[in-house]
Formats: sequence, C-alpha cells, structure tokens
Amino acid sequence: MKNLLTKLKNNQKLCYDEFLFLLDNRELFADEIAKMARQTQRQNFGNKVFLRGLIEFGNCCQNDCYYCGIRKSNKNAQRYRLDKEQILSCCKVGYQVGYRTFVLQSGEDAFFTTDKITDIVKSIKTNFPDCAVTLSVGERPKSDYQAWHDAGADRYLLRHETADQNHYALLHPDDMSWQNRMDCLQNLRDIGYQVGCGIMVGSPYQTNEHIAKDLVFMQQFAPEMVGIGPFIPHNDTPFANCKSGSVELTLFLLSLVRVILPDVLLPATTALGTADKDGRERGILAGANVCMPNLSPQHAKQKYTLYNDKLCSGAESADEHEQLKTKLKNIGYDVVTNRGDHKKFIQEGKTDV
Ligand code: SAH
Repeated sequence: MKNLLTKLKNNQKLCYDEFLFLLDNRELFADEIAKMARQTQRQNFGNKVFLRGLIEFGNCCQNDCYYCGIRKSNKNAQRYRLDKEQILSCCKVGYQVGYRTFVLQSGEDAFFTTDKITDIVKSIKTNFPDCAVTLSVGERPKSDYQAWHDAGADRYLLRHETADQNHYALLHPDDMSWQNRMDCLQNLRDIGYQVGCGIMVGSPYQTNEHIAKDLVFMQQFAPEMVGIGPFIPHNDTPFANCKSGSVELTLFLLSLVRVILPDVLLPATTALGTADKDGRERGILAGANVCMPNLSPQHAKQKYTLYNDKLCSGAESADEHEQLKTKLKNIGYDVVTNRGDHKKFIQEGKTDV
C-alpha cells in the first residue's frame, strides 16, 4: 500500500491495475491522496482559484442521452435559445464583475450553425479582447471546430463520459458513438484548443473497472481541463430511479486527477455543489482550482436542467460572485481575475493575450 502511494507521489502515474486497487480500497488511501492533491495544488497554484462565467445559451438538443434532462425525448423540458445580443449582455455583466473566461454551453442544436457560432465567438472576442472563450456544444465535424478556433475560441469542453465503449452504449442510444466522441476530442486537440474531457461519477452501470479505464485515458490524453461531477438523476429520463453518484468518490477522484495531472484546470462542478451544500468548497479542498458560476439569465438557468434540483441561487451575478468569493476566502482561497490558461499554453506562447 505504501509502495503504491510512493509510486504515485514520485511518478504521478499509475497503471490500470494500480488505479483499480486504489479504487477498490479507497478508504485506506483517501486521506493520503487528498493530502498529496492539496500539496500539488499549493505548489502549482498557491491559494488561487480561477473563475469561469458559464452561459447556458440553449437547451434544444437533438441527442437522447439516457441520463440528461434536456434530452430530445423529454417533452416536459421548456426549450429556449439565447440570441447573440443576450449572450453578449451576459458577458458584459460578467466582465464588470471580473470574469475573463466565458464558457458557452448548450444542447446539440443544429439551429446554431457553424456560421452562427463563429459570429458569436467573433463578437465576444471583439468586445472583450482580453477574455478567453470556451465552447461546450458537443460533437461537431472537425471543420466546425476549426472555424470556431479560427474565430478565436480558445478552449473546448467535451466530456468523454466513459472510456469504456460498452459502458458508453448503456448510457446512450444506438445512434451515438463512443468512437466519434473520442475522435472529436482528438480533433480538438489537433486543432490546438485547450481541451477538457471528463466523466460523471456514479453514472448508471459504472464500475471501478470503468473508472480505472477513465484514469488511464486521462493520463494518456493529458487534457488541459477535466470535468468531474456526480451523476444526479433527472425525473423525466430513463434513469429517473437511479441513485446519485457518491460525493466522497467524486472528491477522491478530483484528488487523484490533481496528482496525476498536476497542472490541470479542474472545476469544482455545479453538480458537486448540488449533491452537497458544501460541495464546491470541498471540491476545492480536494484539489480542484476552478469555479464556474452561472451567468445565464434567470429563465435560462431554470430551464437548463440536466438533473433534478440543479443549484441555482437566484442571485444576481454580482451578488453570487461576492458570495462565492466570501465562501472561498473562508476556506483560505482567493479568486483571480485573469484568463487562467493552462501553463503549457502560456509557456508555449499559444495564448493570444
Ligand atoms: N451537449 C454538450 C454539453 C452539455 S451537457 C455535450 O454533450 O458535451 C454537459 C455535461 O453535463 C455532460 O457532458 C454530462 O457529463 C453532464 N450531465 C448531463 N446529465 C447529467 C446528470 N443527470 N447528472 C450529472 N451530470 C450530467
């Protein structure tokens, strides 16, 4: 056991069997790995937390993922789309509060054509030239990703959801393909985005074997960002009666990811904050270094329901920002107002500011 921890500490790398052993004996390792993660976080980021302003700009979706509340077949979802002006006004409010990264997320929606998203990205970059734009609009052809990168998009979040093809097939209908999602991640990487992958913890049918595979994949792919949050059921989905993912396992995985990818940008997710009222703070203390408060208009926040009881403060963006700052201060962390690019991109001069 000690050997494994020493190996992890010295090499920041383990193999599939070793990850599986850690996961199967989590209670023996949890404290030590959390400690290691906090040390790594301190060394690389001090007590700084990066903020990203999340804009959920549409919940229309042509996919039918079994876990997701905005899936095509959910007739109870009230659909909406924000237009460019509405998106820009979210950015404006966010900019005044201090955000320098905007994350644009939506369902998979052909209404937002290549050109429409190109135009939105260009407008944000023109109006807020010192800000980074992160897109999270799902699987698209490489030419779309290229066009948006040319327009100035800096980062892309596309959770791989699971590194196991059979598990993927249990979470998605037959017309969705694990291979295509993996190819998309590689395309994004090849184009030059800062790329984020990730998983839900405790998604239906997930085993420790699957998670060990996810960790091996993350280690190999070495993404700039990783999104990890607990699965939470949504009433109007086929997984309505499944149980939520474990908060403790989520925290354990955040710590483990911090250790194997020391510089990674790792958010304490909204799902974690929903599953546990102190979830976001506990996520930061476990090794996460990013928070993504929601800048969407109130009506959009309420309709962008991926899962039950999604955290949605109802507060104005500026107030929410102050509350978050205070919460983080109380656990010894300060928020920083800069773009917060991945170290590798800064060192290689690949960022535009
Ligand atoms: N359509 C885009 C982004 C929207 S969903 C895409 O597919 O990438 C963003 C993430 O929310 C998903 O990748 C998934 O991991 C997470 N998510 C969806 N439903 C969830 C649920 N019920 N519980 C927790 N997380 C969920």
